[in-house]
Amino acid sequence: MIKRVEVNYRGIFQKTLGKYIGGDIVQIASRMGKVAFSNGRYSDSPERNGIPCKYFAFVSPDLSEEELEAECGAKLDIDEADVSVVVDDTMVKGVEPWGWHGVRAINEKLREKGCLLVTSQHSHDQLLTFIPKQPFSWRLATVEGPASLAGLWVYKDDLTRERVLGALAAVDPGIISIEAVESYLLEKTKDKHRAEAARASYDATLRNMRVVKAGEGAEWHHEIPRLPTWKEFESGGVVVPAVPRGFTMGPRGQSRNERFLRGTTKSHRPVVRFDLCIKCTLCWYDCPDECFDPTDDGLYDVNYEVCVGCHKCAEVCPVPECIVMVDELKFDNNDSPWEHHKRDPQGYIKWAEEKKGLERIHYPHVTGTGMEIREGKFVPPKPDKGGPAAGAKA
Ligand code: SF4
Ligand code: SF4
Repeated sequence: MIKRVEVNYRGIFQKTLGKYIGGDIVQIASRMGKVAFSNGRYSDSPERNGIPCKYFAFVSPDLSEEELEAECGAKLDIDEADVSVVVDDTMVKGVEPWGWHGVRAINEKLREKGCLLVTSQHSHDQLLTFIPKQPFSWRLATVEGPASLAGLWVYKDDLTRERVLGALAAVDPGIISIEAVESYLLEKTKDKHRAEAARASYDATLRNMRVVKAGEGAEWHHEIPRLPTWKEFESGGVVVPAVPRGFTMGPRGQSRNERFLRGTTKSHRPVVRFDLCIKCTLCWYDCPDECFDPTDDGLYDVNYEVCVGCHKCAEVCPVPECIVMVDELKFDNNDSPWEHHKRDPQGYIKWAEEKKGLERIHYPHVTGTGMEIREGKFVPPKPDKGGPAAGAKA
């Protein structure tokens, strides 16, 4: 028998977390007398900030190391998962691991009765508005908390690792038991708070797990790209058509790859108050992914299909509250915000302010201190379109 776990994490920001969880599963299972190994999928080369990636852990109570390796090693993706761990809940909207691979459902690999285990502050019902339906029943469990994001060289030690291990023991004790998790953490770290965090998460998960029935969940609307098969190769090889490129060239001469919808990379998206914009061009110029499209009226629309949520535009915009980063799970479509603004300026401001709320999210990724929340404020619409934006920095 083989138990398979995948850990879906955000590239770079959660790389160390994903690797630790995969390695911990192996060590705990080994202490229980099982055979196990863990590996990672280098899904984007080089792994980029925020790109959805996976670590895997395979555990067997009765196979030899060689047999387990032969079954599960050296594969690009997992065959099926008993548990899919998701350490950033915005990935429930779908993940595109690399260009041409297509946007894939977060529960694509989950087997019948398997469990999707998500770190989240949202309810199961909210998450299910994004997770596609399956023809079989499966389980959904959450580890309460925000996504634990840090950076490449740092690790945010906020007990997410321990709490995920405890929750994993609750959703599938055939992989690791809570007693083995506790003794491993106690012995390894000499810190009883870590074992207690795992046990508390175990208890909470047992109380808060939900069966998702066949047919329950969202409709899935992403197409998977089809690549030529070897049978289509002719004697001289196969012609793979170039990726169509080109729109109005970006500020640095680049153009977008319209087939690589890297928007699934983001945990937050920019909401723009077009009425406050002073048309300084900085968002358009500095966006590293060419997401801003100049409009006829001199504003800059955002293409959410390709925005990776890097926060750069919100950092460079000189007008307070003009560009604000908002939790990606507050949105259920990628419609053009500028078209909304043109159609209904007042309605757009109301919509934008509702989305923004008063939480302003900052991620000092490099320090590893993780997410910081500051307080924002409402800025009234400009009284005169030609005048200066209210509160504009000097
Ligand atoms: S957050 Fe802003 S700067 Fe970053 S990719 Fe998205 S639109 Fe571009
Ligand atoms: S950075 Fe801000 S003010 Fe400047 S063009 Fe973009 S939205 Fe407008």
